[in-house]
Amino acid sequence: MPLQTVNARIRGFLCLNAHPVGCAANVRRQIDTVGRVLAAPAASSAGAPTSGAPPLRSALVIGSSTGYGLSSLITAVFGYGARATSVCLERPPHGDKTASAGWYNLAEVHRLAREAGRPVTTFNGDAYSREIKDQVVAHLKASGARLDSVVYSLASPKRTDPTTGVSWTSVLKPVGAPYRSQSIALGSDQITTVELQPATDADIEATRKVMGGEDWELWIAALLDAGVLAPGCRTVAYSYIGPELTYPIYRSGTIGRAKEHLEATARALDARLREGLSGGAYVSVNKALTTQASSAIPVVPLYISILYKIMKAKGTHEGTAEQIARLFRDHLGPGRTPRLDGEGRIRVDDLEMEPATQHEVAALWNQVTTENLFAITDYAGFKQEFRALFGFEVPGIDYAQSVETDVALDRG
Ligand code: NAD
Repeated sequence: MPLQTVNARIRGFLCLNAHPVGCAANVRRQIDTVGRVLAAPAASSAGAPTSGAPPLRSALVIGSSTGYGLSSLITAVFGYGARATSVCLERPPHGDKTASAGWYNLAEVHRLAREAGRPVTTFNGDAYSREIKDQVVAHLKASGARLDSVVYSLASPKRTDPTTGVSWTSVLKPVGAPYRSQSIALGSDQITTVELQPATDADIEATRKVMGGEDWELWIAALLDAGVLAPGCRTVAYSYIGPELTYPIYRSGTIGRAKEHLEATARALDARLREGLSGGAYVSVNKALTTQASSAIPVVPLYISILYKIMKAKGTHEGTAEQIARLFRDHLGPGRTPRLDGEGRIRVDDLEMEPATQHEVAALWNQVTTENLFAITDYAGFKQEFRALFGFEVPGIDYAQSVETDVALDRG
């Protein structure tokens, strides 16, 4: 039973360890945030109220342990009182090595959900595999649960196709032409120039295989075949668009191509769920936020640091918990029909994309240097939030105290 003090071990956009008590505090703060957002009235951008929209009694969250997926699980369980099944890929503690942050996050979710009388069941394994899908289906069948909501929130650099056995690795590259941009070197807090060569066709295809909609479709097919989706079931996956200044690395790059595939998959799944169950499949375009996945994308930490500075000053800044609670309150939760844009997507990136906000982002983008990085952007906020993802620099935690790092994540 290792009782030890834990200090952050950060290498660029990676943090090699996590603090169990800080992660647990983050989960409790998200639960409070979700409660606050759900208690507030719907925004003017909300979808129409409907009496036919299904309740949220039972949810499956795939990619449930960090970022947008963790907030989705917390919203379903603590915001709506749903019973939930969750899938993630996290590292358990080993000797004096800590677990990964998502492991500690879910340990706290499990503890509090059990206390609330609606235990969460988690499958920690490769969501892309047939085995995990079979295990989740068997569990849902045995428990008699019919899912009202399926959230698909995976972010991964790799996927093995379960049909062919071929492994694919996604890449973050521009398409068509090289891309040169300023960026932050996270290890040295310097503004540097990154130059990325355009993707090959093979790069584009590999990224689509990992981050496109193929696996989401396999999940929904498996759940439909097993008869574990409730009438009216809604499924959602998350996408990003962002402003033109990040288009070369995001929306028009390899990851954007994969997101286009995810969005096309939503249209195909929507037709199937509508016909069979009067349900629906949606893509929600979310705000750029500090997560383990987004920190790894070149240029994005600089964009986020500038965006945070402006949105915090305007009072429009939101984290993942605010975003997802608002998504369910205004669009996907009981009593709502989602409002969709011209391409059929839900937009909770509306505040990020406000023209006045983006105008100010573009102005700071042109001024930023290593010397003024901390003064004119919220890079300090980005760094703090990055550390907090792993349970470090969380307000109210005494990091000099020894803590138990050998925390169990029972299946639920
Ligand atoms: P994240 O890194 O915080 O979370 C990824 C989740 O996927 C974790 O729960 C992890 O355990 C799980 N996972 C990864 N590989 C897995 C595997 N093989 N099997 C099972 N679980 C696995 O990422 P995030 O930023 O919250 O991203 C989630 C989704 O939201 C992605 O589709 C992303 O593109 C989208 N999105 C993110 C942002 C952003 O700025 N962070 C903005 C808009 C949309």
